[in-house]
Amino acid sequence: MPTLAYLIEELVTANRILARENIVDSFGHISVRHPDNPQRYLLSRSRAPDCIEAADIMEFTLEGDPVDAKGRAPYLERFIHGALFEARPDVMSVVHNHSESVIPYGVTGQKIKPIYHMGASIGHEVPVWDSHDQFGDTALLVENMAMGRDLAKLMGHGATALMRGHGATVAGRNIRHAVYISVYLEANARLQKQAMDMGDVKFLTSGEVDKVASRTSSYGINRAWENWCRRAGRQMQPEQG
Ligand SMILES: [Zn+2]
Repeated sequence: MPTLAYLIEELVTANRILARENIVDSFGHISVRHPDNPQRYLLSRSRAPDCIEAADIMEFTLEGDPVDAKGRAPYLERFIHGALFEARPDVMSVVHNHSESVIPYGVTGQKIKPIYHMGASIGHEVPVWDSHDQFGDTALLVENMAMGRDLAKLMGHGATALMRGHGATVAGRNIRHAVYISVYLEANARLQKQAMDMGDVKFLTSGEVDKVASRTSSYGINRAWENWCRRAGRQMQPEQG
């Protein structure tokens, strides 16, 4: 199992990478399940991802209550993370973002599907969660566990979901995996729009998606991670766990 100190450093690096790669801007966040207590998770205090340091990382119960806030204000949308960790024992890290290329797919009925091999990790098709279906007119933010659980239910066993008029949520088996999927969800959305503008799109077949996904190992993810660490000005840690 990874150590707490390792995961806190990894989480800081992940925030900086997501900012550097334009997956988050001043908003958006990434969490990791606590290594010693699966009923807890780690997430920064409410702060822009590119500014986050180790002292910003807070511990939460799955319900979203801070364990020892020490005066730090949490993100309003932390319930996304707790609801996914609660529903999915296989999920160890969650990213929530408002990355720009995915937004149009959440509002048009046009589904994001893998258009190239790097996009296979997003799943066969990215489902769209519409908060209005269950909760009516809201500020669109996931600000309680009922909304978080409804989103987690829509996501099912998948790795990705869009949120209508809002953004996207990604679930991974560790921090690097969640970042990897988030980066290529944005890239796939951007390229899919370019392709659709040119004409009919031939997406990856279902079998191709399965084959590429089964070959997406930590070897390839770590290759990307090393490059992203360099771009974000962060030291790459030897992988744990
Ligand atoms: Zn949001």
